[in-house]
Amino acid sequence: MSVSEKLNAINQKIRDAEKKAHRDINAVSLLAVSKKQSIEKIREAFYAGQKKFGENYLQEALLKQRALSDLDIEWHFIGSIQSNKAKLIAENFNWVHSVDRLSIAEKLNHYRTPIQAPLNICIEVNIDEEKTKSGVLPQNVFALAKQISELKHLKLRGLMIIPKNNQKKGTEGAPGTAFLLQQELISKGFSLDTLSMGMSHDFEAAIAAGSTIVRIGTAIFGER
Ligand SMILES: *Cc1c(COP(=O)(O)O)cnc(C)c1O
Repeated sequence: MSVSEKLNAINQKIRDAEKKAHRDINAVSLLAVSKKQSIEKIREAFYAGQKKFGENYLQEALLKQRALSDLDIEWHFIGSIQSNKAKLIAENFNWVHSVDRLSIAEKLNHYRTPIQAPLNICIEVNIDEEKTKSGVLPQNVFALAKQISELKHLKLRGLMIIPKNNQKKGTEGAPGTAFLLQQELISKGFSLDTLSMGMSHDFEAAIAAGSTIVRIGTAIFGER
């Protein structure tokens, strides 16, 4: 199948999963994760109607952005953030899904230029509390959300998770836990509309649990 055929098939599966979960139609948007994929494939996906693309590695992303600057793409940064990269991330992306500490949020806020719209932010939560994983622990999300919401060039939109791999229980349980955590923040006064969860192997379960953005790479572009 071509990229555009795979994209159509994924979009159909997303609509089916929304329906099955009694979610509103188009409640879930698709972020096409294009790390390590070619510029030609991104172009093909864009012409097939895909507007949001996610990248993990800054230098690679900047090269692609330059090569694709004729297209009106919404760029999402979803990789881990070293503080010396924060300036270029703040200047060149519309969204950052992977903020897990205040020092990074402050740098993104500092470097977001005032003429740009506020940078959309998701807090990455280490939902399975894995020792080697990035993300803020669930019990520390509230404090970080409070600090980020005071930074005026950032707009806190919600939470992002990457559940444990190859663990049925993890992928079934973690999205539900993330949804409850999000609801708890909303009940405490944060206006959040985004839950970034679900990848190629688990997006349907994530949609059932309340995801609003699924991040899908392999199932659209093939193996990296
Ligand atoms: C690579 C990546 C994805 C996409 O994973 P696939 O399994 O290729 O769909 C999603 N989210 C993050 C944070 C990633 O790094």
